[in-house]
Amino acid sequence: MLTRGPSSTGGVNKGPFLAPQVTVVGAGPIGLAIAWRCAARGLRVVVHDPAPGSGASHVAAGMLAPVAEAYFGEHELTGLLTESARRWPGFAAELTEATGVDIGYRTEGTLMVGLTADDLAEARRLWSYQQGLGLPVSLLRPSQLRAREPALAPRVRGGALAATDHQVDPRRLVPALRLAAARAGAVLVTEPVRQLSEPSGGVTVVAAGCGAAALTGLPVRPVKGQVLRLRTPDGGPPGFRHVIRGYADGEHVYLVPRECGEVVVGATVEERTDVAVSAGAVLRLLRAAVDLMPELAEYDLVETIAGLRPGTPDNAPILGPLPGRPDVLAATGHHRHGIVLTPVTADLITGLITGEGTDDPLLTPFRADRFHPDSKEEDLWS
Ligand SMILES: Cc1cc2nc3c(=O)[nH]c(=O)nc-3n(C[C@H](O)[C@H](O)[C@H](O)COP(=O)(O)OP(=O)(O)OC[C@H]3O[C@@H](n4cnc5c(N)ncnc54)[C@H](O)[C@@H]3O)c2cc1C
Repeated sequence: MLTRGPSSTGGVNKGPFLAPQVTVVGAGPIGLAIAWRCAARGLRVVVHDPAPGSGASHVAAGMLAPVAEAYFGEHELTGLLTESARRWPGFAAELTEATGVDIGYRTEGTLMVGLTADDLAEARRLWSYQQGLGLPVSLLRPSQLRAREPALAPRVRGGALAATDHQVDPRRLVPALRLAAARAGAVLVTEPVRQLSEPSGGVTVVAAGCGAAALTGLPVRPVKGQVLRLRTPDGGPPGFRHVIRGYADGEHVYLVPRECGEVVVGATVEERTDVAVSAGAVLRLLRAAVDLMPELAEYDLVETIAGLRPGTPDNAPILGPLPGRPDVLAATGHHRHGIVLTPVTADLITGLITGEGTDDPLLTPFRADRFHPDSKEEDLWS
């Protein structure tokens, strides 16, 4: 992406640049994917962000897990996650084709496991629910689990395979999206947007993650997540290939192995706004991780970090026009799912901007006005 520094931001609509048709606030995965898609459609796009890629995506594990993340009472969200995951192979191929960047997209699948009898009972309740939705969850006996991943602890009582839950490396994805957007003609301005301007003929997309609340008044709140990164001592690939998600003595933990030797261990879910890393969280995550995968005790601990997920009251994203502002589209509130939801969000928002997708039924449950009962009847698409 062409980059302009702070000194030139006052001239977004002046100088050699024509006024943007699309102004994107936020250069995380969501904003950059929208910028890429819009610029590739020939629209003039400007993206504003003082620190591109520094939001939740910098911390995220990158699980693409519509099945393992199908929780009770989140039926509509599960539908959107499933649709986005279905688009991921094509999206990854297109992005790699456009940039030449290996984004770490891997398709070995996800093993969900329970360490103790109690852990397994809790996990089975969720797996039954997921199977009841028709999602591909195959129950595995301990011997079948260990045939797939011999490094799992012998104590693990049972598990299930979510073969279609894949992964990508967000720290590769975001630079790739930035490059793709730049190659398509989008311009990056490295300064924040402090308030929404008056309607000017163009469309503004607020894709600022947790920063969206201050700009729009939408109920997006930070949900803290602490994560660890381990590395194999010899730099070779980890001794397991599936993403492992499990319950270990009541602690929920996931382990995401990367080819480069990294394993992401996560994550806490805390109603806090700070990004401090606490000793207790590191202790609990490490204990649960080693309980499931003992060889991790020999790995190097190379990073402890916390990030803020953009959460909403119903855990689902907010996609579409702000009530009373048809020129401002929200693309925020992706909470635990912004990486998996990147392809579908980019397609849906681009469809709204070009006018080709204004009646896409996928959008209906995620409209911005669902949190404003008074404005439910307003025709936001006109
Ligand atoms: C611990 C943890 C683990 C996670 N694991 C996963 C996972 O495995 N799978 C998954 O799908 N998701 C995961 N997520 C969630 C995912 O990271 C987020 O949903 C996703 O990053 C949201 O993308 P975004 O682009 O909307 O926001 P962000 O990635 O937060 O990016 C927002 C950008 O907006 C910029 N910005 C903010 N305010 C302004 C402003 N006023 N002006 C200009 N720019 C602004 C910021 O600088 C930032 O670059 C995880 C998150 C955390 C914290």
